[in-house]
Amino acid sequence: MNLQIDEQRLHSELETLATFSDAEPPAVTRIVFTPEDLNARAWVIAQCEEARLAVRQDAIGNIFARWVGADPAAPAVGTGSHIDAIPNAGKYDGVVGVLGGLEAMRALQRSGFRPRNSIELLVFATEEPTRFGIGCLGSRLLSGTLSADAVAQLKDRDGEPVDEVRRKAGFSGNLQDVKLPKGYYKAFLELHIEQGPLLERAHTSLGIVKTIAAPASLRISIEGAGGHAGAVLMPDRKDALCVAAELILVIESAARSSGAMDTVATVGVCDVFPGAVNSIPSRVRMMLDVRDTDLGRRDGVMQTIEGASQKIAAKRQVSIHSELVNADAPADCAPEVSAALASSCRQHGFPFLEMVSRAYHDSLFISRIAPTGMLFIPCRNGYSHRPDEYAASEDIARGTLVLAESLAKLGA
Ligand SMILES: [Zn+2]
Repeated sequence: MNLQIDEQRLHSELETLATFSDAEPPAVTRIVFTPEDLNARAWVIAQCEEARLAVRQDAIGNIFARWVGADPAAPAVGTGSHIDAIPNAGKYDGVVGVLGGLEAMRALQRSGFRPRNSIELLVFATEEPTRFGIGCLGSRLLSGTLSADAVAQLKDRDGEPVDEVRRKAGFSGNLQDVKLPKGYYKAFLELHIEQGPLLERAHTSLGIVKTIAAPASLRISIEGAGGHAGAVLMPDRKDALCVAAELILVIESAARSSGAMDTVATVGVCDVFPGAVNSIPSRVRMMLDVRDTDLGRRDGVMQTIEGASQKIAAKRQVSIHSELVNADAPADCAPEVSAALASSCRQHGFPFLEMVSRAYHDSLFISRIAPTGMLFIPCRNGYSHRPDEYAASEDIARGTLVLAESLAKLGA
């Protein structure tokens, strides 16, 4: 099979998709179900239809674009990623796997290849946790990892329920119907930027993922006591932000001392009430994210944090309440899918690294219902989730080529 990836077109599509954004370029902000996101989705669907793919969307907004194979009843071979983007992000996270997946399918079409199994592009809805506080809603529902009832109860930052938000965006179907039937996919492959520096450091342009690290996140509320910043003397204070500061350093040290480099912990949200310069913070809401490749070690870190937070609460006479938002198990990629990727790399003499995905992806959830693999390409300095995120066109094209050949192999 002699496949030609249209690197130029892929590059220009990446640039076009980046214009659907709520931020000044080069930054991209595309929160799920905002007008920017809905316009971007419409544009992606138009590209899929131009490639003569059959498009459908489900009740949470996952987009499926199918190239029907010679045996339409056989399970499909899937590929895809997401196009929603956190505030002030870059152009490549998720998008490379969506537009790369589409170009992989077009390259196969141009070569005259006719798949036996259908090949399907899947654009996952609401991968980023920005709006609803929990990531990968689309793939959690598809895989049955989260129930439709649990999803319907989630609210966005303005207190609007998922159900209302999605209906306003035009997705009115039944959330119960999102879950995919058993055996829907024969295999699933996600192409993604690494979001870390290892490929670049190793001067290697492809990474085959063996394990996807397990994320857990907590919502932490600290209730102290407010008051006038001038009138309340220091011994009388229950400053919720000082409590938060102490707790954040405990969290950092718990992750650092887990005994493994794979443990990481981050407090990425810290809302302070009432947020006035002359007012003592009475309440702090934080979001904590802890990840590891080892479930036991990660849960150990979570317990250390919980124990320390109760001690801090007692010492400072405040209440600290934590609520588990999600705690997912790590996933291993399927050997047969990784083997398809590796054999394509070897055919071309492309060196590759076997790696851990430290970020989590929709593939983590799809791996519960289908043999799943992930292919990484480098991003400059390992930067991601920031405006200067960058992946070279030739790396994107190389990843797309390996993806296309692997889809063909798995769907032949
Ligand atoms: Zn992503």
